[in-house]
Amino acid sequence: FTPIHRRGEGQSGIIAVLQDVTDQEKLEQARREFVANVSHELRTPLTTIKSYLEALDDGAIEEPQLASRFISVTRSETERMIRLVTDLLHLSRLDSKQSMMSKSTTLVSEMLEEVADRFSFQLQQRKIEIVIRVEKGVTGLLLDRDKIDQVLDNLVSNAIKYTGDEGAIRLEARKIEKDMLEISVQDNGIGIPKKDLTRIFDRFYRVDKARSRNMGGTGLGLSIAREIVKAHGGTINLESELGQGTRVVFTLPIQQEEEDEL
Ligand code: ADP
Repeated sequence: FTPIHRRGEGQSGIIAVLQDVTDQEKLEQARREFVANVSHELRTPLTTIKSYLEALDDGAIEEPQLASRFISVTRSETERMIRLVTDLLHLSRLDSKQSMMSKSTTLVSEMLEEVADRFSFQLQQRKIEIVIRVEKGVTGLLLDRDKIDQVLDNLVSNAIKYTGDEGAIRLEARKIEKDMLEISVQDNGIGIPKKDLTRIFDRFYRVDKARSRNMGGTGLGLSIAREIVKAHGGTINLESELGQGTRVVFTLPIQQEEEDEL
């Protein structure tokens, strides 16, 4: 690079140039890591599918019980790849700001009830209790319902995945400050070790890869949630205590006129 010399300013330009290169390198490094991660995440199920198909071809197809087990593995691995590719597509649309916001006024209590309804079968099966609390005075909010539903689905599905049977989940909404709504999803599950907390929103970062995979996770849920919340002008944070549970909190700005409409 060429250092910039300006009369009277000494070599102050050099620092800015170096900074630029480092940022560029960091970005490039992140991009390389991302591509490597995507390739690895896709390669794993493909390898599994290939070996099961080979086993079927080598004779397992003649044994109905074995064959049906092998086919069901192939199927679930295919479903995992579809989930992964769908998540990647969502992320890339959010990254390129291609995904248009389609905001409408939404009743917060109704939205939270409906998330719980979507998971009611799983919750019942695992005997996990879900409690919804909406502070008095919290009514409507202007938001992209599909996208915020995706945030809530990701957070509640994590809460279920990483909580033992007979656990409890709390969904809460309250006003903080005059013009911010805070929504939180809290569980009393396995929690996250302190050392992992700083990287937990990174793409593909998981505390325990094997466990997350077994649970059907892609490692992208929290990254997607963060992008969506950011696109709404809010913030998202996660607090966790190993063995005690996890609480994810996100904020959304309240537009006064919209709230008055309801
Ligand atoms: P995944 O698809 O693996 O769940 P996420 O991006 O949603 O990916 O979450 C990243 C990782 O954070 C998970 O693999 C898990 O290790 C950890 N995690 C997320 N939510 C929770 C939770 N409620 N309790 C414990 N660990 C969690």
